[in-house]
Amino acid sequence: LLNLLFSLLHSVPPKITKLSDAIPDHHWCIPFSVAGNPTPHLQWFLDGEAVTEGVYIMTMIHDVTEREYHGCLQLDSPTHLNNGRYTLLAKNEYGTDQKEVEAHFMRKPWDGEEFKTHCFLIVQVYVVVGIAAVAFTGFLLMLVILKFGGNSKFGIKGPSSVISNDDDSASPLHHVSNGSNTPSSSEMGPDAVIIGMTKIPVIENPQYFRSTNSLLKTDTFVQHIKRHNIVLKRELGEGAFGKVFLAECYNLSPDHEKILVAVKTLKEASENARKDFHREAELLTNLQHEHIVTFYGVCVESDPLIMVFEYMKHGDLNKFLRAHGPDAVLMAEGQTTRPVELTQSQMLHIAQQIASGMVYLASQHFVHRDLATRNCLVGENLLVKIGDFGMSRDVYSTDYYRVGGHTMLPIRWMPPESIMYRKFTTESDVWSLGVVLWEIFTYGKQPWYQLSNNEVIECITQGRVLQRPRTCPKEVYDLMLGCWQREPHMRLNIKEIHCLLLNLAKASPVYLDILG
Ligand code: AMP
Repeated sequence: LLNLLFSLLHSVPPKITKLSDAIPDHHWCIPFSVAGNPTPHLQWFLDGEAVTEGVYIMTMIHDVTEREYHGCLQLDSPTHLNNGRYTLLAKNEYGTDQKEVEAHFMRKPWDGEEFKTHCFLIVQVYVVVGIAAVAFTGFLLMLVILKFGGNSKFGIKGPSSVISNDDDSASPLHHVSNGSNTPSSSEMGPDAVIIGMTKIPVIENPQYFRSTNSLLKTDTFVQHIKRHNIVLKRELGEGAFGKVFLAECYNLSPDHEKILVAVKTLKEASENARKDFHREAELLTNLQHEHIVTFYGVCVESDPLIMVFEYMKHGDLNKFLRAHGPDAVLMAEGQTTRPVELTQSQMLHIAQQIASGMVYLASQHFVHRDLATRNCLVGENLLVKIGDFGMSRDVYSTDYYRVGGHTMLPIRWMPPESIMYRKFTTESDVWSLGVVLWEIFTYGKQPWYQLSNNEVIECITQGRVLQRPRTCPKEVYDLMLGCWQREPHMRLNIKEIHCLLLNLAKASPVYLDILG
């Protein structure tokens, strides 16, 4: 009876004492304070519809003072779909109270049509500028010919020399000429580029027709491996160009009779695909670094054409991160072999190795254009290498945005200038490296997972960046922000990034035992 009397005396109907405008913080927050006893039940409505709470939207109470509850409706990367009138309803057995606030997080993005129009306009501008440039160059050439007549010393040069440019860092390797300045098979198409062995049509961009790279040397010796020396063991995965197998390769190394290798097969072997295959093989032969997957050679005796790489035991980094994240640990509860969550120092160790590979690629004037964790591989003792130059399109097709018929762009990893003008440079690779850091510190989440492709384009071009992952130290998030400067020249330099990551990794020791 005394208890009942006590609770009656202290019973307080709910009162919402504060409901303020949304504020961007680590997550977005609609701050509120509610008094009441017993604790009021809180329910949110967006434009009259009950909000279903989950991992992306949830009520968080941060503080309780004298039966007053202070908290946030916390929203993880809200989009225009979350804009609207938020009503907070507080209820206990002694009454109810409600308050409203308008929240606006993002402008509604362009729809597909508008984006197409935008792209079309860019194409038009390029076409007009292109025609004007060609006409002007023609005029100049005529003047030169008139002035010097048939003097061979001043003969007309190949197309790449005419459209030369000093900024070789912007030259995507796949468009580097073969030394004679004639376009290769992959440059022949009017609007096709190659990412790895993947041919994608793009909006024409004079940036692509550069000829300043030295990786495609005329004297490259690509190792040929006999088919009978390759014994397939099992399938590892499938890329856009064919299946990837684990195999044993005999007589490859002088120290071992056989070694494990990963072989990539080329299923469709048209004349152009074959040429691209050989160019790719030359390029891979010349890329040698401790954090770039080792390329052993090709087998072209018969179809399918095969490329032989070192075998990386733990497969691609994205799967690896997911397999060592909190979700995987939770799912494996009760099982005998439980995965262990990656530690921060291990994440730094991974990041540092990728940055090291990127320093090397930049030193070779190689623009990767598709750097992502799905394109990195993990070997023994947490050894990480950049392992793919664009062959993972099928498995991870949702990571790419289809523009027109065949163009697949990894927009979630691309900076504004690559999305808007298809400009790919060492600086755009730095942006992607920032996204790779974000992937690592979120255990392999897809960047902007809560947004559609059009919304991602809107976000990136408007200047929004990914939020700091929960487990990410401030120093690392600052590094990401340094990679995501809107102006390419303002971004951190790849060497600086590597140096910073190396120092951070050194500062926290690596425990390699998680791989067992
Ligand atoms: P890709 O065609 O390169 O995307 O490869 C498809 C899948 O095969 C990847 O996601 C990896 O899981 C696996 N894979 C590719 N290359 C290797 C390798 N060198 N060692 C081990 N697994 C590999």
